[in-house]
Amino acid sequence: MPDTTATFVDPQVAFLYASQTGNAESISYNLYEDAVKRGYNASWHVLDDHQKFDFNSLRTAIFVVSTTGDGDPPDNSTKFWRALRKSTRSNPSAYSHLRYAILGLGDTNYSNFCNTAMRLDRQLTDSGATSFYAKGLADDGTGLEEVVEPWIDGLWPALAKIAHCNSGSTVAENEGSDKLDVIPSNENSEAADNADSAAAAIEKLAVSDKAAPTSISELPTHTSQPLVLDFSPLATLKAISGAPRVPASVCTISHLDNTAETTFRVQSVLPHNLECPPWYTDLTSQKSDGAATDEQDKSLAPFLATIKASKQITTTESLKRTLLVDFDISDSTADHVRNSWQAGDAFNIFAPNDIHMVSALFGRLDVSAVDGQRPILLSKKDEKIELPAHLQRFSTTPASMHDMFVWAIDVTSAPRKQLLRVLADHCSESAERDRLLYLSSRQGTKTFEELRRQSPTLVDTLHAFPSCKPPVERLIELLPPLVPRSYSICNAPQSNPSLWRIAFNVVEYELEVVDPFSSEEDGSSAQPVKISRHGVCTPWLEQISCKRNMPKTLVAKRPNISGFRLPLVPSGVDQRPVLMIGPGTGVAPFIGFLEQRAKELGTARIDPLSEQAPLTWLFFGCRNSKHDYLFKEDIEHWQKSGVLSRLSLCFSRDPQAREQFGAPKYVQDAMMLNEAEIADLLINKNALVYVCGDAKGMGKDVNSALADILCSYTVSHPECVKALLAGTSGANANTNEQQQPLTLAQALQVLMRWSTERRYLRDLWA
Ligand code: NAP
Repeated sequence: MPDTTATFVDPQVAFLYASQTGNAESISYNLYEDAVKRGYNASWHVLDDHQKFDFNSLRTAIFVVSTTGDGDPPDNSTKFWRALRKSTRSNPSAYSHLRYAILGLGDTNYSNFCNTAMRLDRQLTDSGATSFYAKGLADDGTGLEEVVEPWIDGLWPALAKIAHCNSGSTVAENEGSDKLDVIPSNENSEAADNADSAAAAIEKLAVSDKAAPTSISELPTHTSQPLVLDFSPLATLKAISGAPRVPASVCTISHLDNTAETTFRVQSVLPHNLECPPWYTDLTSQKSDGAATDEQDKSLAPFLATIKASKQITTTESLKRTLLVDFDISDSTADHVRNSWQAGDAFNIFAPNDIHMVSALFGRLDVSAVDGQRPILLSKKDEKIELPAHLQRFSTTPASMHDMFVWAIDVTSAPRKQLLRVLADHCSESAERDRLLYLSSRQGTKTFEELRRQSPTLVDTLHAFPSCKPPVERLIELLPPLVPRSYSICNAPQSNPSLWRIAFNVVEYELEVVDPFSSEEDGSSAQPVKISRHGVCTPWLEQISCKRNMPKTLVAKRPNISGFRLPLVPSGVDQRPVLMIGPGTGVAPFIGFLEQRAKELGTARIDPLSEQAPLTWLFFGCRNSKHDYLFKEDIEHWQKSGVLSRLSLCFSRDPQAREQFGAPKYVQDAMMLNEAEIADLLINKNALVYVCGDAKGMGKDVNSALADILCSYTVSHPECVKALLAGTSGANANTNEQQQPLTLAQALQVLMRWSTERRYLRDLWA
């Protein structure tokens, strides 16, 4: 047995992460970098690299893992989970030598909060591993920092107890050397001076591009958006505390010599129809990486797809603009994908940041257009500290700073406290420094949350603090990676394996910000400020798909972890009834399902209108019957042909159509109108239920509706309860036994079990 007592000594610590949007990655990276500074022999890896870092023989590991969709683990941990299952199956105490700590990131607005962290904890404990420090579960709904920072503070002493550093001195001796906890506020600062004046009640930090210094002569217009924040509490604060530690700088920029620069320029000219990162060949050849050669991995490697067609499928009166875009995936590098995808899958698109925004950022940072285009390499400042994963390629592959900021670095997500803390150190005006420190502090949490709600881009944040001039390399190393965006495929390979079709709303919206802290009593008459926001990928897709040159973009199939697919039966049709619930663009995968079903029925020579054809029932909701009824023609065609047996339509803002068609407002209302039938299908006919769309509102409401449906059915059919709870079919229940109807909690448990049995599948999106 390995030693599991408190005298265990191991200075080697692995910092492991699974991250969908880059948050877990960057928190884990900061921990790793801090650990190196504290004397640990630390390493840092994404979970899917488990073979490279030999997970099975690790003794100390710190996990930072996020949860995505409906409680799913991030895509970059799917191989790890498979391997973990395999090794614990063959050896139930496979990890008895491992000490671990877990920080989970999630959002309580979605179901299965921090499921990845909980599952990982369970599986590791079950296989003999020991948790040396209590799990932290951080909620993005209320602000990750509230849990993350205290968890990190407690981690170091806990880790020091079980590990000694190489030098022989205990790691605990190094504790606290660079802790930043109390920053005296500058009482003479502008903010303090203004404290008594009415103007200090609300600072409107709005700066337009005109005021932004720029050294780029042909700067395209990019208008920064205002931030409306209340800094008045700062005036009475004596000290602020709890700001995150300032991480050490890890990278330096070096320029190439003239010859290398000339070669770079010649090689980096991409054909005019390529809309992808200049280093795309590095990404498309990822699959040849030694260990990662199984079929599944190959099918997930990025490749180039050609945008063949695009059209708007909502009318101009619609509140949202929905586009339908076709990608041709017949490229020879996509062979593995063409043979392996199914309706219900989704894929990632590698989209760039808006180049105008990047130019505006460079203008703000005094990076000239010429310098922005010069190739650079990044190198480690400290040999012992790796560069963040998304920057590592730039230590060997030169790229221009412009391309890095366009294709590799996230400049649009709302800033994290750590970035604000670092920005504070680069302000020449003390009042701005104080405000940034306040935003990153414990006392400023409310104002920070308001800042997150307004979701400023980096340009917006910098424009709100005009004296802030961070060095560009500091931003490169601190900003999160730009992650690809996912879309559901809305067609089926049975019709055309070389086509991926997606439907998406072009993300452009306006936030109206009124002074978030004013009340009627204080007499504040702050005018609402309008802030426009744009998505990263959808406006770009809209723009490039209008081009005549059939642009090629970099895409990659996403692993379908939850198995959101219609079961395939060779030359036949799965006989179970299928309920599909998908309002708005959530209908996308169901269009693929129906296309698959139409083909399957044709191949099996089953008349869709006959009894032999299994039931398919679609619940679709939109706002208006005339403006945003997506795929209307296809849906009506399948309904007519019998491929779609039942259709329940809902119109949330079209009272006329509601009256005309007797349609309710929302999909869950339509379900309640048909509750007896739905219950019968679920309980007695083993129906499959699929839900796709918004996680926060619709996903939760549909789940509650299903639970209500189960509860009320068991009022009149209590004989089903035992079977439902035992997990057997209601039809086989022992009718002699007296039972109470299901409670709501029990109904939710039944749904949870169906979800693990893949009878109830949810593809929910943030
Ligand atoms: P949407 O247009 O915002 O909404 C569609 C309908 O759902 C509207 O009638 C809306 O009504 C209604 N609705 C609002 N709240 C609801 C609730 N709590 N329960 C039931 N219905 C509700 O839909 P969307 O923008 O297309 O969004 C669909 C979601 O699916 C998004 O989260 C998207 O990310 C996701 N998704 C996208 C894809 C893709 O590939 N693009 C694929 C799958 C899923 P009102 O607004 O009038 O209240």
